[in-house]
Amino acid sequence: MTAVTPGLVCAHHHLYSALARGMPRPPRTPRDFPEILELVWWRLDVALDLEMIRWSAMLGALEALEQGTTAIVDHHESPQAIEGSLTVIAEACAEVGIRVVCAYGVTDRHGPDGARRGLEENRRFLAEGGRGMVGLHAAFTCEDSTLEQAAGLAAEFGVGVHIHVCEDRVDADAPRRLAPFTDERWVLAHGVHLPDDHALAGTIVHNPRSNLNNGVGYARPARFSNPVALGSDGIGAAMLDEFAFAYFCHRADDVTADPQTAWSWLENGRNLVPEVLDDRVTWSYEPVDPWYVAYTPGIRPLRVEVGGEIVWDEGRPTRVDPDEIRAKAAEQARRLHARL
Ligand SMILES: [Zn+2]
Repeated sequence: MTAVTPGLVCAHHHLYSALARGMPRPPRTPRDFPEILELVWWRLDVALDLEMIRWSAMLGALEALEQGTTAIVDHHESPQAIEGSLTVIAEACAEVGIRVVCAYGVTDRHGPDGARRGLEENRRFLAEGGRGMVGLHAAFTCEDSTLEQAAGLAAEFGVGVHIHVCEDRVDADAPRRLAPFTDERWVLAHGVHLPDDHALAGTIVHNPRSNLNNGVGYARPARFSNPVALGSDGIGAAMLDEFAFAYFCHRADDVTADPQTAWSWLENGRNLVPEVLDDRVTWSYEPVDPWYVAYTPGIRPLRVEVGGEIVWDEGRPTRVDPDEIRAKAAEQARRLHARL
């Protein structure tokens, strides 16, 4: 028994984090979210070079495809390898055969020159016709002038800004500082600590598994009037799993919750990358219905067509050699871990 659906979308991903698994332990155990950033992610991102970025994106794209996810809305940061990084990611995804919306996460953590170079990478990629958005890391690591410039750049290219918002209490000031800039094209990742009456426009991306992992709290996304979509925040791109996490988190908070709500968040991802409506995923199971999928782990695609081309068939990608990708990614992971 099979069912066919359009492609799934991971609405907030960090393809660069595919090589983080198994990384050396931080010098001490992080005790809260700011320490997780400082001791894990900000040590990792600064060690990335373009070759590592390429193979982490290849691996992440392969892992998306094998879950029926045909589009990723990616948020990238590599402070020592900014120029050209978005093209490396876009080319890796195209090689595997999936769609990606790229953004470079601009920040003032590395001074005004780092912010300028990040903005320039977004501009370069968009000006060359790349499918992208303008990225900002988060309001709490950016000066007001950087927020304003990123919003201006996005408006210039007719795209939204992809930014982390209120993932943790440390970013509590974000709604006030972003209020003058947002519009419905923006992608606001997390929103865990956004007040109900935050007044920001855009799609809020709920990342339930990542939020559990970081101990930042439950976003209670059902309370928002904004559209809500689902992301992985870098933990793969298994969106049926992410739907189940979203549903069970919702149930833990409110046992009357219906899986249709989390399912609508999964489907909203398609509004960010409507091209996936042209994609066809044939699943190993039917019906692909929220009440069934929520309680059926392990559903996998048998065949995936992206834009008319079969890119996954009989358990394998058709365009690339998965063993080569895993081997090359492992080699780059060893290089990366050695730097840490
Ligand atoms: Zn994120």
